[in-house]
Amino acid sequence: MEPNGELAIRIGAALSVFAVMALWEYLAPRRALALGRLRRWPSNIGLVVVYGLLERVLIPVAAVGTAAIAAQRGWGLLNITPWPAWLGPAWLEVLIGFVALDLAIYAQHVAFHKIPLLWRLHRMHHADLDIDVSTGLRFHPFEIVLSMLIKMAVVALLGVPLVAVVAFEVALNATSMFNHSNAAMPVGLDRIVRLFVVTPDMHRVHHSVARHETDSNFGFNLPWWDRVFGTYRPQPEAGHDGMTIGLPIFRDPAEARLDRLLSQPFREGLGR
Ligand SMILES: [Zn+2]
Ligand SMILES: [Zn+2]
Repeated sequence: MEPNGELAIRIGAALSVFAVMALWEYLAPRRALALGRLRRWPSNIGLVVVYGLLERVLIPVAAVGTAAIAAQRGWGLLNITPWPAWLGPAWLEVLIGFVALDLAIYAQHVAFHKIPLLWRLHRMHHADLDIDVSTGLRFHPFEIVLSMLIKMAVVALLGVPLVAVVAFEVALNATSMFNHSNAAMPVGLDRIVRLFVVTPDMHRVHHSVARHETDSNFGFNLPWWDRVFGTYRPQPEAGHDGMTIGLPIFRDPAEARLDRLLSQPFREGLGR
């Protein structure tokens, strides 16, 4: 696959999902926003411009490039040995690669909460006073770079097929905007959908100001890891309308400015 083809797929998919989720949460909002869109969207979306540039300049060979090189040079577990026929069709390799990447992202997310230095980078995502589709884009550029390096390591060590990496990148981007959205979904439907993918009601618990709720529901894409590793919390204690979103720190609305978002990791100790 052409590197630019991969980029076009990612950008096209991201824009479409953003438009659909933005329309959904506008027409059927799950809860009233505290700070609203006007104060938050320019910064949350502005970040994408900042880290989009960073990603293109600093990491010209991203996860997809790593997959191509790994396949060419025979790096990684899946590339060392030919896929044995008794294990089933070869496309299972793609499935294994996809699931392994998702587990790695879950583990990385837990690490970003548990390791104080990493929490400094990640807490900016949590400091958003509302959670909607734009929160799904709101990550510190340093966190994006670190996450990309971790993904590249997993891809090289395991030899994840290129098609699995592209599918995973597109899926993670789409599910991140979906599960951060303020879109209302009937409770019965949510119960079924969250068996297969993290839903907005499930991830919203993770954005609660209460620390024991912040430290739960780490999944972004597949919802199973939280159940397997005991970090699953079905609903927020105060209910979706009653819960407070954000962190105990950085609650001044001025913190929603782009320059404040970028400087948050370097301010105010390790406080949570
Ligand atoms: Zn988090
Ligand atoms: Zn989140």
